[in-house]
Amino acid sequence: MLVQVAIDLALDRLFTYEVPEALEKKLAVGQLLSVPFGHREARGFVVAVDAKANRAEGLGDLRGARDECASSPSRPNAISLRPVSAILDETPFFSPNLLTLVKKVAAYTAAPLETVLRTALPAAVLKKNARPRELLFVEPIDQEGTRHETGDVRASPRQRELYAHIQRLGGGWMAQLCRELKTTPASIRLLAEKGLVTISVRAKRRSPLGNRRILPSKPLPLNAEQLAARDAIFADARPTLLFGVTGSGKTEVYLQAIARELDAGRGAIVMVPEISLTPQTVQRFAARFGDRVAVLHSALSDGERYDEWHRIRAGTARVVVGPRSAVWAPVKDLGLIVVDEEHETSYKQDETPRYHARDVAVLRGVIEGARVVLGSATPSLESWHNAQCGKYRLATMRCRAGAGTLPDVRLVEMRDGSIYSPELLDAIRLRLDRHEQTILFLNRRGYSRQVVCEACGHVIECPDCGLPYTYHQADDCLRCHVCGGWTARPTVCPACHAPALEYRGVGTQRAEAALKKCFPRASVLRMDADSTSRKHTHDDILDAFRRQEADVLLGTQMIAKGLDFPNVTLVGVLNADSSINMPDFRAVERSFQLFAQVAGRAGRAELPGEVFIQSHEIESPVLRAVVRGDFAAFAVDELKAREDGFFPPYCHLAMVNLKSKDLKLVGEWAAMCAASLAKCPGLNVTDALPSALEKAEGWYRWQVMVRAKSAAAIVKAWRWFVSARPAPTALRVTLDVDAFSLT
Ligand code: ADP
Ligand code: ZN
Repeated sequence: MLVQVAIDLALDRLFTYEVPEALEKKLAVGQLLSVPFGHREARGFVVAVDAKANRAEGLGDLRGARDECASSPSRPNAISLRPVSAILDETPFFSPNLLTLVKKVAAYTAAPLETVLRTALPAAVLKKNARPRELLFVEPIDQEGTRHETGDVRASPRQRELYAHIQRLGGGWMAQLCRELKTTPASIRLLAEKGLVTISVRAKRRSPLGNRRILPSKPLPLNAEQLAARDAIFADARPTLLFGVTGSGKTEVYLQAIARELDAGRGAIVMVPEISLTPQTVQRFAARFGDRVAVLHSALSDGERYDEWHRIRAGTARVVVGPRSAVWAPVKDLGLIVVDEEHETSYKQDETPRYHARDVAVLRGVIEGARVVLGSATPSLESWHNAQCGKYRLATMRCRAGAGTLPDVRLVEMRDGSIYSPELLDAIRLRLDRHEQTILFLNRRGYSRQVVCEACGHVIECPDCGLPYTYHQADDCLRCHVCGGWTARPTVCPACHAPALEYRGVGTQRAEAALKKCFPRASVLRMDADSTSRKHTHDDILDAFRRQEADVLLGTQMIAKGLDFPNVTLVGVLNADSSINMPDFRAVERSFQLFAQVAGRAGRAELPGEVFIQSHEIESPVLRAVVRGDFAAFAVDELKAREDGFFPPYCHLAMVNLKSKDLKLVGEWAAMCAASLAKCPGLNVTDALPSALEKAEGWYRWQVMVRAKSAAAIVKAWRWFVSARPAPTALRVTLDVDAFSLT
């Protein structure tokens, strides 16, 4: 028997081992093995098992799919195969279905299988010293019937009293019992000696929810739109695109669809963007499903993550709530996958493997026969297009489910350089008078955009990235928003030495200062990457705002999503143009999403809301569509533009990203890459260009954009190119299939 093993190093190559007879019966696909590798032992996952006697033919299917293997030293031949040393865990880490998913994602994204395997498994689970937390558990022994023979006759009255307490509690953790019953471990051990209790070691869950008590919630009676949406999910095998305005009750639909799957013995995965994975979100699921919920997110401790993952694999937890990595959760009998806010770009991973969790969810649904729901108030044009052509089923929810109506949205023309229009200022004043709250949104952090010399026009830039520095008033320094580097604020121009430095553009800090000048008595909270870098500050700010300790919350896109503040009745977008005019084919789509999400923050409860969008171009079709809340009309326009320009969803777009510290090398290699790929049939290849972010952290960056009808065609050409032209070590070349970042 032979096995093919993916060693836990990104070698992009599989290795074949022989299975000793003693292990043959126990060995299964997905297990973690220890194998000899060079002069040491390595860990690796079984990705294929082959019992065929003929070694040369064995495992052919995988090798055929992976050209590298043919020339690898792992090529099966009768002489050199080494035996597997040990099975490290008999329970497979990957089910056959998950392994299939991993292989497909590796093929689709042109990533090494080992890297995808590693992505699919939390690092905390594989850590050498990872283990459950084990504590002493005390259990009372039922004394009925045995009263006369056992030791309890010899127990003192105090011991009998202690025993009665423990029995009343039904046992418990040693430490907790000692605390609650004001006793000592020694006293409880005496009870054990007398045969009244047993003391054993048990694993105690390290719960991300802590000891918080969460009140159970009951299903709400669904309205007609919600019922139709729920039925759509179960109508056929197609994924459902749940297009529902903010507050239309999508979450309640998810909850009830999940309940149905749980009743049928199946599990579910709920993906939410990391930024909206707040305690409130988690609580909604925990309140409905209790301990059956497992939470996975980046702030978990290793122990919590280890326990949650094992609870999922063991089948104790049936509903997984988490960010994009939750798509890999080893849920048994998976019945449903929910991707909430499916348009969110955070579902796309920006390092290898560059997968899109929404697309992986759809793929997993097919492999596992699970339903898939993609929910959004502003679907991605990719998903919208799929719904239009029938690949997905569309369910629409137009009305708000709970209290609250959709806010009035108004465009306000910006005429001069001021940050706040008179209309917006009046509206803020009104809110202050009425003790209601306001959210102001600005797509730029820092005090001001650039520091420019009035005398010579010199713009102060980061020497490593070549992009303008941003002035930050709080620490009075200049920061680079790309590499995070900083420098002290100069008092004279570094180029001409004139003391004429000017601050241009408006950032959140400057907007805050201007607001305080207009309303000296208003209290303003600012939230951006600078105000939230310390741990917990993000939640602290939001909690303070929720407790109505401030009148105004001013921030970047961080505040645009997922927040639900009943007392907010005014939302202002300070400069809409800065986001529409970004050099990216998705800028318009993102702007629509952003404004619609921001608008969704106003008037969620009983109080009606108002939204002001300030812009220099109030005739812009995107802004008009936002005002009407008309996603469908916007999508028609924008899809037409995408089709004309041959952009997704009418093609697959991949970026070849090249970087090097050697400017000449990267430029030449990029040109050579573009020329080679252009020869491949079916590929539309642009000229090699320096990236918009031409230099970052000392690396020169170039790129080649490749478009084709199928992603597989791009990957095939790419594999051919990298094997024909292995990149020199001074150069990093990566492929980003279905790229989101074009810089
Ligand atoms: P979404 O996820 O679409 O933004 P939510 O599920 O958060 O919407 O629902 C918005 C509000 O409406 C919540 O306060 C929720 O409790 C309430 N809600 C949802 N469904 C119903 C219903 N069927 N009846 C009454 N209230 C509902
Ligand atoms: Zn920099």
